[in-house]
Amino acid sequence: MHLIDGELSAGTGTFEIISPWTEQTVAETPCATLDEAERAVAAARRAFDEGPWPRMKPAERAEILRRFADRLQVRRDELVGIAIHQAGAVRSLAQGLQTDAPLKAAFEYADTAATFEEVESHVVDGQPMSGAVGRRKLRLVQRVPAGVIGAITPFNYPFRTSVQKVFPALAVGCTVVLKPHPTTSWDSALMAQAAQEAGLPAGVLNILLGAGADVGELLARDARVDKVSFTGSTSVGRRVMELASATVKNVVLELGGKSANIVCADADLDKFFASEPGNLRHAGQGCGQLTRLLVERSIYREVVARVAEQMQRIPLGAPEDPATGLGPVANSSQYKRVLEYIEIGRQEGATLVCGGQPSQAHDVGFHIQPTLFSDVDNSMRIAREEIFGPVLVVIPFDDEADAVRITEDSDYGINASVWSRDTEKAWRVAARIRTGSVGINCLANVTAGPHGGFKQTGIGREWGKYSLDEYVELRAYEVHE
Ligand code: NAD
Repeated sequence: MHLIDGELSAGTGTFEIISPWTEQTVAETPCATLDEAERAVAAARRAFDEGPWPRMKPAERAEILRRFADRLQVRRDELVGIAIHQAGAVRSLAQGLQTDAPLKAAFEYADTAATFEEVESHVVDGQPMSGAVGRRKLRLVQRVPAGVIGAITPFNYPFRTSVQKVFPALAVGCTVVLKPHPTTSWDSALMAQAAQEAGLPAGVLNILLGAGADVGELLARDARVDKVSFTGSTSVGRRVMELASATVKNVVLELGGKSANIVCADADLDKFFASEPGNLRHAGQGCGQLTRLLVERSIYREVVARVAEQMQRIPLGAPEDPATGLGPVANSSQYKRVLEYIEIGRQEGATLVCGGQPSQAHDVGFHIQPTLFSDVDNSMRIAREEIFGPVLVVIPFDDEADAVRITEDSDYGINASVWSRDTEKAWRVAARIRTGSVGINCLANVTAGPHGGFKQTGIGREWGKYSLDEYVELRAYEVHE
């Protein structure tokens, strides 16, 4: 059910959630209309302008948010099941990154709400301020909630991305209209129930299930929405920014990636392989995944052979089976897209080392073999475009400068890793690449924040305390007695 103006509503229409493993309908949600979206935006605006939420004492807000997090926590096992069945996440991923990590973040943001420092700085008396000699004077910088937030989330980590927008925005006193991806809005139905049970005041959080581009565009366009927080593809992000510009609306854009994993000849290869470069988590459907493997030429063949061996050992199967390492991609359009890119790679002349076919693990569903292309040139489409599937491309490099050049020759800038026993060299490389995070001899922990990117990966930073900054505006007061 949608959550609009404090009421759970069955709405109109039906959106069928299809299991990517069985291709059967596993759930149905309503399908939000533009009319319902209008009502949700009006409710969020009213709740912000007239309701108690932005004016509540931080401790009171925190108490309600803790109740909200608690009501989500009691649904933990259900949320894990949903991550498995609506998007094909394998069990360990469904439990960890898809559910437990965002639940933990929800509690942390609830705690932050209690201690949120509204007043950033103040200077009193005796300081040199022009025109007020001998009188009491005060200067304050106040962090005020940004207003009504339109939150738009993608299919790959739906609960995680929704929590990551909703909780920090609410923690600082904003109101929210959440529009998840229609194919994965089942978890948001649980969020709607939890919010209502927690007693969030009417209109503070509104959730529109099963909604598509039309509702997303309404949020980006509508003057009553102060800021849009969007996670999704770069092409749709561009459209959101274009629509938002009509009302000079502020945006957070967390978009695509094509991140480099740079392996120097002096790397500790055992450590590198322990990071499982061949196992692309969530079948490669992650924005910060290291899908371009850059390997120094002298060890190129050895690394390609070992990665291929690692990929071929990944157990394929049903996502709910704890033994499965690679499940299906999330939906039929992803399935078609990934197979098309594999064909493009073949036609571009890259060498298909392993995979390249639908998997034989199941006779229905959207399962694709882990696929490795070697002899890839960075000018090829499979090296430049986000495939968002279990496909890894391996590109040789000659030296440090060449590794930096290839890494930087990308429209994206979200994440990277550098592997070398020469830590000074690794730092030099890391410092020269423009990505939101870099791991040195490890994978960067995105959840620690800040998470986000340079170039066409977007605008803004999320996770941890950095998310809070996205939902406040600064206001200066100067007071002379
Ligand atoms: P998408 O851009 O197709 O959809 C994202 C959301 O936008 C969905 O809710 C969708 O319904 C909505 N939408 C579609 N058209 C719209 C329009 N015209 N106006 C407004 N909203 C519209 O992305 P996706 O396929 O769901 O997700 C995959 C993409 O998300 C990848 O590119 C991935 O890299 C990116 N992503 C980025 C991050 C990050 O933090 N940078 C995290 C997760 C996913």
